[in-house]
Amino acid sequence: MEILKIENLTKIYGKGENEVKALDNVSFSIEKGEFVAIIGPSGSGKSTLLHILGGVDRPTSGKVYMDGQDVYTQNEEQLAIFRRRYVGLIYQFYNLIPVLNVVENMTLPVLMDGRKVDNARLSELINTLGLDKRLKNLPNQLSGGQQQRVSIGRALMNTPAVVLADEPTGNLDSKNSQEIMQLLKESNKKFNQTLIVITHDENVALQADRVISVEDGKIVRDERIRRA
Ligand code: ADP
Ligand code: ADP
Repeated sequence: MEILKIENLTKIYGKGENEVKALDNVSFSIEKGEFVAIIGPSGSGKSTLLHILGGVDRPTSGKVYMDGQDVYTQNEEQLAIFRRRYVGLIYQFYNLIPVLNVVENMTLPVLMDGRKVDNARLSELINTLGLDKRLKNLPNQLSGGQQQRVSIGRALMNTPAVVLADEPTGNLDSKNSQEIMQLLKESNKKFNQTLIVITHDENVALQADRVISVEDGKIVRDERIRRA
């Protein structure tokens, strides 16, 4: 089943001589449960693509359908709700709120959505992420690996259909990178969650079901990885 479909997506930043075409007429679709790696040189449009897929950044032209819904016909308020319900975003620099502790950071999107925290889900995630001794810690009291675990917990809290990660292991050593990828892959399998990861790390890309290469705002390769 198709979960994401994009058609003729173009994104232009700036105007006149400052104009940058970050995405140039990109189309593809992604199946539910697929793990897709997006690779390509710096400045090729990967983050722009991820943000447009996640309802964060409006395209200049083209369409994004999530689960059949035309994402950008929604107004800003509807888009904010859409993001909190369907999308889990994970960043290279964690984007945690410095004055909130581990539990508060993890539960913020659910509370902002006006819903009750599912305490069983919270405990399960905290245990899986190995954060049980860190519940009251602020982000600056945690290692990089732990901060990324908190940001993953926040992204997975409401079991989103789609998890979008922009270089989730970009700041981590190889041991932490592997553990973070393991956590994301477990969630991908367990919930048949779609996982889309931008990465410069070949070891991460090789774990994906499919690798999409972006250059100069265009898809230059789209390969399914076959495993024995
Ligand atoms: P990547 O993630 O592959 O490094 P990006 O999607 O961040 O690439 O950027 C693609 C192009 O769009 C680059 O030329 C970048 O400078 C430009 N760009 C990205 N975001 C903005 C922005 N907010 N304003 C202007 N230009 C931008
Ligand atoms: P990791 O392998 O997760 O990156 P580190 O080797 O950086 O962990 O840290 C080892 C231990 O020290 C961790 O249990 C972490 O909680 C703790 N720690 C790291 N940085 C800090 C900090 N700034 N304040 C308090 N504890 C920290």
